[in-house]
Amino acid sequence: MRARLATSLGGAAGRVSRLTGRGDGSVIGGVLGLRVEPDLLRLLAQDRHIVLVTGTNGKTTTTRLICAALGALGQEVASNAFGANMDAGLASALGQAPDAPYAVLETDERYLPAVIKATKPRVVVLLNLSRDQMDRAAELWLTARRWREALAEAEDCLVVANADDPLIVWAASLAPRVTWVAAGQRWHEDSWCCPDCGSHLRRDELGWRCGECKFTRPPTRWVLSGDTVIDEEGKVHDLLLSLPGRANRSNAVVALAVASYFGATVDQALPRLREVKSVAGRYTQVQRHGRTIRLLLAKNPAGWLEAFDVLAPAPGPVLLAVNAQVPDGKDTSWLWDVDYRVLLGRPVLVAGERRLDLAVRLEADQVPFELADGVDDAVSRMPGTHLDVIANYTAFQQIRAIVGRAE
Ligand SMILES: [Zn+2]
Repeated sequence: MRARLATSLGGAAGRVSRLTGRGDGSVIGGVLGLRVEPDLLRLLAQDRHIVLVTGTNGKTTTTRLICAALGALGQEVASNAFGANMDAGLASALGQAPDAPYAVLETDERYLPAVIKATKPRVVVLLNLSRDQMDRAAELWLTARRWREALAEAEDCLVVANADDPLIVWAASLAPRVTWVAAGQRWHEDSWCCPDCGSHLRRDELGWRCGECKFTRPPTRWVLSGDTVIDEEGKVHDLLLSLPGRANRSNAVVALAVASYFGATVDQALPRLREVKSVAGRYTQVQRHGRTIRLLLAKNPAGWLEAFDVLAPAPGPVLLAVNAQVPDGKDTSWLWDVDYRVLLGRPVLVAGERRLDLAVRLEADQVPFELADGVDDAVSRMPGTHLDVIANYTAFQQIRAIVGRAE
């Protein structure tokens, strides 16, 4: 009864929040509901098939892709599609879809152990772990250890985890059931050391292994191979996604593994993944003054590496926009962790509140660039008809507000 009251109060607050233009309503409803019933998340999650998705990069996109794939089952799927990924956002997503038998919930890395306890998920997806903003490797290891302890006790839960990220493997390896996915890892800077013994990890074409202890890459059941997925029966399928880039192909393979567990075959799920063209404004193409602009969000070094992979071929121009507000992290030293030399050979424009920090970094890499006063200035000065924009969180939101919220 209190859960119902809390949910309906929360729903009303969410509607008020949307009507008054104070937000999209995805958090305030949950905040109010949790105040009335602290146990709300557990109550709302009861008797549903819950999937939790976490990791440093790709949470929002993978959540969206799993929802699309589960659509093949013909049943309603609840989700926090706007990326509100702490307990209020999760409660709100479940409260808004009280009859959905499935729920796919993007979950903040720090909240995962508590959310596992509250929701008793059927599946937990672990994508990757790398430095984000000011985070340091030691904090990553602590996060992995908290996951490892929580998953060791999560009965009746399948973990779907990336076998190519050693820290993810360590976090998942005490779980009772794991489906390992060869999802790839381009960013190695946070996984040179064995999470178990601290020795140096060795990498070759077969994967990775510790030089000292027995910690090694586990055998995988799902494999991303170029533009194809090899399913657990060894069958090869062309992915042919609308979303660009290696990172999204990796997210799609994870989504297919989750969907398969719930009974949706690759042939059923894959056409639905191909229909996803943008996720919360990311990868969106918009027209601006007769040019096509494509928006890419990248919040941390590993994310920037994946974004470079998606750029139109050189000499296509690119606008880089960096802020350092609270949601971005106040410290821009992470800019030094990215290798910008891949941008050589294309016009580079630099904007955002911390554009000078980025400018200094580009100087050091000897990448020619020009400063721009925002997206419109960049559009007016760029050659060609297509501009790729890579921006971190609040810079992305500012540009999106200017060029329109078209999906
Ligand atoms: Zn070791």
